[in-house]
Amino acid sequence: MTGIPGKLRCEEFQASLPELIGSGEDVANHPHIQSCELCRALLADLETIAEAARQLFPSVEPPDEVWQHIETAIKSESATESAQRGAKRA
Ligand SMILES: [Zn+2]
Repeated sequence: MTGIPGKLRCEEFQASLPELIGSGEDVANHPHIQSCELCRALLADLETIAEAARQLFPSVEPPDEVWQHIETAIKSESATESAQRGAKRA
């Protein structure tokens, strides 16, 4: 017998981590996370990466549409600017 009985080793825990996250498990409350600083830090890193990915790709939108949004935003912004300039001049 090796290791501490009833306790997962980091290797074992980290190996099952994708599965735990994928199954919607509350990994932050996992007994190993609670008792292991190393894996807690690892999970925090994973969550930071996942959060960044969500912000970069909020939804799967076709790139053409994204560029259209940007173009429209730029156009409406410069239109407002020139309208304000025109109002001042008038
Ligand atoms: Zn660990």
